[in-house]
Amino acid sequence: MDIQLYNTLSHTKEIFKPLKAGEVSMYNCGPTVYDTPHIGNYRTFVMNDLIRRVFEYNSYKVIQTMNVTDVDDKTIRRSREEGISLHQLTQKYEKLFMEDIASLNILAPHHLIRATEYIPSMIELIQTLLNNGFAYTTTDGVYMSIEKVSDYGALAHLQKTDISKERISNDEYDKSNPHDFALWKFKTIDDGDNVWHTPFGDGRPGWHIECSAMAMKTLGETIDIHTGGNDLIFPHHTNEIAQSESATGKAFVHYWMHGGFMTVQEDKMAKSKNNFIKLETLYKQMISPIAYRYWLLTAHYRSPVNFTHTAVQAAQNALIRLIGILANYPEGGIAIPFYIERFNTLINDDIDTPKAMALVWDLIKDDRRSDADKRATIADFDRVLGLNLSSIPILNDESIPPEILALAEAREEARTEKDWAKADALRVEIEARGYSVLDSGKEFKVIRH
Ligand code: AMP
Ligand code: ZN
Repeated sequence: MDIQLYNTLSHTKEIFKPLKAGEVSMYNCGPTVYDTPHIGNYRTFVMNDLIRRVFEYNSYKVIQTMNVTDVDDKTIRRSREEGISLHQLTQKYEKLFMEDIASLNILAPHHLIRATEYIPSMIELIQTLLNNGFAYTTTDGVYMSIEKVSDYGALAHLQKTDISKERISNDEYDKSNPHDFALWKFKTIDDGDNVWHTPFGDGRPGWHIECSAMAMKTLGETIDIHTGGNDLIFPHHTNEIAQSESATGKAFVHYWMHGGFMTVQEDKMAKSKNNFIKLETLYKQMISPIAYRYWLLTAHYRSPVNFTHTAVQAAQNALIRLIGILANYPEGGIAIPFYIERFNTLINDDIDTPKAMALVWDLIKDDRRSDADKRATIADFDRVLGLNLSSIPILNDESIPPEILALAEAREEARTEKDWAKADALRVEIEARGYSVLDSGKEFKVIRH
């Protein structure tokens, strides 16, 4: 079955054609590890995970690279502010990132790589650009000459007349003023020990060259898919194209995929704005990471979404209801071809998860199907949805963490005493820790989600 994906480059949905039959190479711009990622970042990382899962569901072999930006303007600035080494800072946030992606059931990318470990590839790429005349050296660094790039700005649909001849050393700047940008920044007093020796001068890489070098080193000069949130279209991805294609003379990426932004109270959520919500904050508000993932699936990955606690709470309620229903369905059924085909059609249509989620509930309500077959079918869907629905372990007393068991027993006691408010509060507490209690008669069962 064909897979259609929206390509930012062409502004249309295109039928996916791989470079190599049966395989997909995908590069995802990863986190800048100077702070805890926020739930907006995780929206984009869940999108990456969904893309991978859709291809795997369609029997493709996916090779996925995600970088960790552990050296750039922001990480260096923060390590100076905190008075710790760059490595100490980035290790701390990388660890938190890894824990968070596991809790969101995001599959670990095959190459999860740090920029600082690919500096030789970046130097090589800059040297090529210097040799072939696309880059030039100034007193503060090596710059990319965008005037020399014939279709500079095509991804962001810039007009050639918009292009300025000035240059900028900052990694981030505005679309209204494209500039020659820094490939390599000569060392300054602020860089501390974070400098590398090169034939063109000691210093450190610009942010954009990092991704070009890491993508091409791990996946090849031309790759199938490159992703990020839509704030990366300009300048980051635009500059990645300019650098990579000027160095190789080949197309860098066939399909550019960008995720819609998440706002909080209609305001852009950004680490730099200090208005960001972490997964940990949600957890403290009794929302599990998987419930957050469920909520993300109810919107299309390209639509902008506005985060509200009410919406994510409703998603958590729906998830718990779903888990409860599935836990009561017997095992041993067979996935229903009619539903599998419908599901496949929806996810292959630019990953239409809102319709796929609606299909889950249509199936639950379909009286003509056996419960066992429904369970088997939804377990199959879950290979893409990633909600951990396929393994709904009913835990025996030994495998329930003691604090969960204590909470469940306290809840049972509250129920016996008809203290419904307390029983409810305890249920919420259990759910926020990733478990649910299902009542059956006078007994209760604990499941993990
Ligand atoms: P950063 O750590 O800032 O480099 O961002 C990592 C990824 O998260 C990038 O792909 C960004 O485009 C994406 N991102 C940042 N903020 C948001 C947001 N509010 N909503 C969705 N994606 C975002
Ligand atoms: Zn990148």
